[in-house]
Amino acid sequence: MTTTISSIVNGERIVGNAGGVDLNPSDTSDVVREYGQVDAAVAKDAIKAARAAFPAWAATTPWQRAEILDRAGTEILARADELGDLLAREEGKTLPEARGEVVRAGQIFKYFAGDVMQPHGYALDSVRPGIDITVTREPVGVVSVITPWNFPIAIPAWKIAPALAYGNTVVFKPAELVPGSAFELVDILNRAGLPAGVLNLVLGRGSVVGPIMTTDPDVNAVTFTGSVGTGKGILAADAPLSRKVQLELGGKNPLVVVDDANLAIAVEALVQGGFGSTGQRCTASSFTVVTDAIHDQFVAAVQERLGKWTTGDARAAGIEMGPVVDPSQLETDLRYIELARSEGGQVIGGELLDLGAKGHYLSPALIVGTNANDTINREEVFGPVVSVVRVKDYEEALAVANSSTMNLSAGICTTDLAKASHFKRNSKAGMVMVNLPTAGVDPHVPFGGKGDSSHGPREQGYAAVDFFTVSKTAYTNPGAPA
Ligand code: ADP
Repeated sequence: MTTTISSIVNGERIVGNAGGVDLNPSDTSDVVREYGQVDAAVAKDAIKAARAAFPAWAATTPWQRAEILDRAGTEILARADELGDLLAREEGKTLPEARGEVVRAGQIFKYFAGDVMQPHGYALDSVRPGIDITVTREPVGVVSVITPWNFPIAIPAWKIAPALAYGNTVVFKPAELVPGSAFELVDILNRAGLPAGVLNLVLGRGSVVGPIMTTDPDVNAVTFTGSVGTGKGILAADAPLSRKVQLELGGKNPLVVVDDANLAIAVEALVQGGFGSTGQRCTASSFTVVTDAIHDQFVAAVQERLGKWTTGDARAAGIEMGPVVDPSQLETDLRYIELARSEGGQVIGGELLDLGAKGHYLSPALIVGTNANDTINREEVFGPVVSVVRVKDYEEALAVANSSTMNLSAGICTTDLAKASHFKRNSKAGMVMVNLPTAGVDPHVPFGGKGDSSHGPREQGYAAVDFFTVSKTAYTNPGAPA
């Protein structure tokens, strides 16, 4: 029997209209969850509920908020196996990846439970004698949280946890493909003690509920992770409204491998960074820039490693890569593979796999012989597709790596400290990895990119307070002692 879930507005379950179906990409005959999609009127009700709940929630003590976040974090961690299974079933990443993501979500709630008790303001003397100044942080108000399908619990966690921690109320819209994890997360937080209306869940189509969540006058801030097109549309619509907007829009992330790299480390960095989570990460190492002297040896070693690679049902034991998330993403992946071939690339792998079940299975695609300016090296694919560019030396590698316009993450594999240091200083990316995959980040430090990749303050860690609060500067003249 399929479990039916629903939107949650002001603590009440709202059954929507037309049927939404959450299918298992490993086997589309498996219906993971059913739900009713709601319309713009329900999104409006959710915004009103969040607005009404805001004054009382903002007035709670940090300790009260910390206790709720901590309880939620504890439950998420305790249920990591079960929630990981649900996540793997609806999104298609492998069980270890899915469990790891759930653990990360739990850690994020624990982190912000602690962070909210830390000092975020300060007091200082004025330039005018006898005047005191305090700088304090206040919540922004009602925050719209709009998330993609590729991290069904971690991305909602890293937006919702700081929003609630600093006293904001939330309207949360997950991607249509992964409502199951979102529903469990909201349920956990509500049972942990959130008052009604503080966190509302809207299960609806982006094109239907998105516009109201991003332009309604009762919304004070919008935090969005998704595609460049949708994100830029949100920014344009919000510009005249002067509200806070935070966008994470993906990346085209280079992994540089130079002559002096440790081959085993470089191969694993590429394979994990490029094909982990089926390449469906905004931090995926989607293009590799390899210097001439190590190029052939490196490509041969990657090819050998991929020869043993296991693709299959996300929840099967020993699987290294699950399916592509849905038919539309699969079509995109195949289109980019063909395009790379037509531009002169040699494709190794990248074939549809018939594994007996009705899943969207694609073998990892390694595309060699590409040029820096080929489309495959310029645009984000979001699938298990990695291209290789051969360059003469480190200087050229850095220039090609920096030619990306979506500078989220960049990596270098080298045993030379000078090159590593130079790359860290001169990479255009917001996050730099040395001898590590470009993907795989910690929950307690800032996350974000440059160029077309991000807009607004960084997410996570100490940086989250910048987006989810506004500072207030107060001046006091205590007057002469009585
Ligand atoms: P992806 O390719 O990852 O699905 P999208 O940008 O289409 O990227 O989706 C990311 C999130 O944005 C999803 O939750 C989606 O429903 C939502 N969304 C889609 N269209 C809009 C819109 N016009 N306004 C706000 N959110 C939207």
